[in-house]
Amino acid sequence: MFSILVIDDEPDNFDVIETFLAHEHHQLHYAASGQDAFQSLDIFKPDLILLDVMMPGLDGIECCRRLKAMERWQSVPIIVVTALTTKADLVQCITAGADDFISKPVNRMELTARVRSMLRIRQQYQQLEEFNNRLEAIVQQRTIQLRQMIFQDGLTGLPSRAGLLQMFDQRQEIRRLPWGLITLDCDQFKLVNGSFGHQVGDQLLQAIAQRLQRQLSPGQLLGRTGGDEFSILVENGDCDHQLEVLGARILASFTAPFWVENCEIFITVSMGVAKTTRLDQDGEQLFQDADTAMYQAKLRGKSSYQIFDAQMHVAMLQRLTLENDLQLAFKQTDFTVYYQPILALKGEALAGFEALIRWRHPSRGLVSPGEFIPSMEMTGLIVSVGLWVFRQACEQLQRWHRQGWTELTMSVNLSVRQFASPTLLADVDQILAETGVNPAFLKLEITESAIMDNAEMAIALTQALRSRGLQISIDDFGTGYSSLGYLHRFPVDTLKIDRSFINAINPNSSAPNPSHQVVATIITLAQQLGLTVIAEGIETQAQLAWLQHLDCEFGQGYLFAKPLKATEIEDQFLSRLS
Ligand code: C2E
Ligand code: MG
Ligand code: MG
Repeated sequence: MFSILVIDDEPDNFDVIETFLAHEHHQLHYAASGQDAFQSLDIFKPDLILLDVMMPGLDGIECCRRLKAMERWQSVPIIVVTALTTKADLVQCITAGADDFISKPVNRMELTARVRSMLRIRQQYQQLEEFNNRLEAIVQQRTIQLRQMIFQDGLTGLPSRAGLLQMFDQRQEIRRLPWGLITLDCDQFKLVNGSFGHQVGDQLLQAIAQRLQRQLSPGQLLGRTGGDEFSILVENGDCDHQLEVLGARILASFTAPFWVENCEIFITVSMGVAKTTRLDQDGEQLFQDADTAMYQAKLRGKSSYQIFDAQMHVAMLQRLTLENDLQLAFKQTDFTVYYQPILALKGEALAGFEALIRWRHPSRGLVSPGEFIPSMEMTGLIVSVGLWVFRQACEQLQRWHRQGWTELTMSVNLSVRQFASPTLLADVDQILAETGVNPAFLKLEITESAIMDNAEMAIALTQALRSRGLQISIDDFGTGYSSLGYLHRFPVDTLKIDRSFINAINPNSSAPNPSHQVVATIITLAQQLGLTVIAEGIETQAQLAWLQHLDCEFGQGYLFAKPLKATEIEDQFLSRLS
């Protein structure tokens, strides 16, 4: 049912129209003048207006013009009901905005037809408007959602990095202040996801967010700025001492474990701290500086704290260049594998090799792994490069076995990152299958840190590797922190005594030397646990003699040979054996 407003100074005309339209069942309203009509618009809310032209006061043409000028009513069709029928009159009505005409005296059929036609248009217009409104509401809602997604982290409800930056900008606009920023990244968070699952990982992040929030005072804004990264903006935070106190409080808050789904999880964080150096400094720069400092903190190890200084930019640039070069080197196969002989110390017979990567740098020549392995660890490139080394070493050992040196073993280093790689077992299986090498002659060297990062997972993984016939060595043994406690639980075959202990051996000196004791203890311990021992870094005859005296079974070091190319090994060692 539509609402039709008839504006006519003659009530009789209304009666006629009402009678004529009775069977259409519309709601008809009457206004006796233009002025009355304008006052009743909001009450009647007409869908169609039938407008007389000749009226005292406000005439129809003027009424029409004013109605069409009102945003609220301009879409309501107006049919002018008029006795004036000259072309000039009609043009005047159209110019004023009228949509149709009916001439007086009104004819029933014409009236009905024109009213229907105008109402049809009105209806279409309303549908369109409704559709538009719905669309606009959806767009508005989506825009709000999108803004929320950009500026707020869905998991913790904290501001995102963009959210914090926005707050920073908004506050700077009101009043420029010095700011501090602490960015903290959870150490080894991947291990949590890896061993407990993402659901626990998510809950842990929520718990961390809550714990962090409790450390804060007014004017300190917490946000989740990355997967396992949080940042705290500190208003008026240009005081080193203030930031250090906050940093220390946060580090301390992580000493207690988190309880998530009945799991006790210990987590540590590394922190980077930066401050604005100028009042007009932009927020992006501040975040970048804190990131750079955080990266430095990570390099120093877990639970570290580092304040940004400008020198770090230079270091960062060097690091990025190195990372780039390494990616390129891998693509161009600029890496090569050297082999260092391992000998049985009694009789000094060749027992096997350790495969050691080298980088043939276009300008620097041969680069040692110490210089680039940490960077590859950081970027994760070590996973693919390490597998490449493993494959090379397997192929080489298989070749030597086929040539008749069937008892030789091959040790391959496995970095922490490789050890944590979810595809490690599948990758190892594939390489074993493709090279056809006998796994019983392969030893994987892992460091204590790879084990200690997640002991339960490490135990399962080493068991899985050993079930394939591979042997496991602990490299650089003695330099990690909790060496002894886990040994009986940890399924390994070999301990490699770190070079630093062997290096310090000087049997001719009469001064007491703790390294002597450490080496002797490790050898005894290994013998009692039924493990093989390899002494790394034997450089002197005296060191060798002393190790032989202690019944150390195997050794490697410059005294016997430096790491060599495969062809050099063949010339210097394998030809001698035959
Ligand atoms: P590492 O596994 O403990 O390897 C022994 C290191 O001691 C080698 O250094 C070797 O050249 C050196 N060395 C052996 N005997 C002597 C000696 O008598 N005197 C001295 N001064 N040094 C000796 P390199 O080849 O520079 O490798 C350093 C470390 O880089 C390795 O320590 C290992 O942790 C890592 N690395 C090497 N290749 C790989 C690899 O393919 N993958 C992974 N993940 N790490 C590797
Ligand atoms: Mg090694
Ligand atoms: Mg070592």
